[in-house]
Amino acid sequence: MLNKKFMFKCPVCGNEYQHGPQIYEGRTCSGYDIEVCETCYDCNWDSWNSEAEETLLAILEEKGTEPPERNDKGFLPRNF
Ligand SMILES: [Zn+2]
Repeated sequence: MLNKKFMFKCPVCGNEYQHGPQIYEGRTCSGYDIEVCETCYDCNWDSWNSEAEETLLAILEEKGTEPPERNDKGFLPRNF
C-alpha cells in the first residue's frame, strides 16, 4: 500500500501542510493564484494580516498581477 504523503510549503507562513492522500489541507486563494495552508486560510478569512502582505504583494508582482483593492480596514482581501 502506498502511503506517501504529499507535503507542500505554505507560501505565506512557510509551514508544511499535507495535501493528499485523504487529508487535504491546501486552500486555493483565487486572485493570488496560490495554495496556502488551512491555518492561514482560516485565520485570515476577512482579509490578510499585515505580516502576510509583503509576501503576497511579492507573489502578485512575480505573476504580473495588479494588487486587489484593499478592504475598508486597509487590508488585502483573502480572495479576489
Ligand atoms: Zn500558512
